[in-house]
Amino acid sequence: MNVIDYLRISLLDRCNFRCQYCMPEGSELNYILRQDLLTKAEIITLLKEVFIPLGFCKFRLTGGEPLLRPDVVDIVSQIASLPQTKDLALTTNAFLLADMAQELYDAGLRRINISLDSLNPETFDLIIGNRGRSRWEQTWQGILAAYRVGFDPLKLNVVVIPGFNDSEVLDLAALTLDRNWHVRFIEFMPIGNASLFDDRAWIPSAELRERIASRWGLAESNIKGNGPADVFKIPGAKGTLGFISQMSECFCDRCNRMRLSADGWLRPCLLNETGQIDLKTALRSGSDPQDLRAKVAEILLLKPEINYKQRDSGTLAGSYTRTMSQIGG
Ligand code: SAM
Repeated sequence: MNVIDYLRISLLDRCNFRCQYCMPEGSELNYILRQDLLTKAEIITLLKEVFIPLGFCKFRLTGGEPLLRPDVVDIVSQIASLPQTKDLALTTNAFLLADMAQELYDAGLRRINISLDSLNPETFDLIIGNRGRSRWEQTWQGILAAYRVGFDPLKLNVVVIPGFNDSEVLDLAALTLDRNWHVRFIEFMPIGNASLFDDRAWIPSAELRERIASRWGLAESNIKGNGPADVFKIPGAKGTLGFISQMSECFCDRCNRMRLSADGWLRPCLLNETGQIDLKTALRSGSDPQDLRAKVAEILLLKPEINYKQRDSGTLAGSYTRTMSQIGG
């Protein structure tokens, strides 16, 4: 089993996009009340008193949309300046990034993952559930700003949905030809929009690799990230292509992470809803940080068991009650 040293921290569950695969319009999302969000001070206390002493040293800020949180730059700065932080990254939809990229970089952020599901503004707006003025251009400007400022690696995440954006796989892969960008194709999961999933299903990464290989050729890359992506490269390209294949592969043996939701629930495995513990209530009711650490240590010991055995059975009602935006994608 891997060392578990990577914590994904959701800063809030709200988002300014309504991606169809994640939080489709009309879905009933019980947003976390403001007073139930972990405060900046609570996040830092949990890191200092609980997670870092247990060996966590890699952190990712996500959501919902983390850039909607007014204190995001300050949170970045505080985590980046902890001496034990070895790696700090952020996942965003980039809609607000153009104006914030420099500030985030100056605060100590170096790695960024941006969701970009289409290069076609119409398809993009359809996927993100936007009916007004297109949001594609502002998102693209956010990506370019991050590139200019120097985020490295700059990763673009694409959830591939049959009939929506799978015809763009080659165009998206081509972004890596002359820029040092890392495009990662993610298999669509049945979390967030079960009916879209039942309707469209998902495309195995192996099939996408075949399409790309028959156009340009494809070589396995020796670059390995923190995560579960299988990394490849078009020969001669500056950037890489990653494939995250949680539907067609089980990568529990490579899993090095836990997730902390914006309201303080610690989830040991993305696919398991029953094994999570509520750290916020314990913290607010005055629990000794040492006791919290002991609880998390216990979950760390149980994680291998939860990963393999309760991966599919770990839901409360047979389907997932929280979307990725609520868990912290
Ligand atoms: N708002 C930020 C963004 O758009 O990147 C961060 C949160 S978003 C929930 C993070 C990631 O969750 C997205 O990049 C998307 O890839 C992933 N995601 C959400 N629902 C998914 C699903 N049903 N299947 C696969 N990936 C999903």
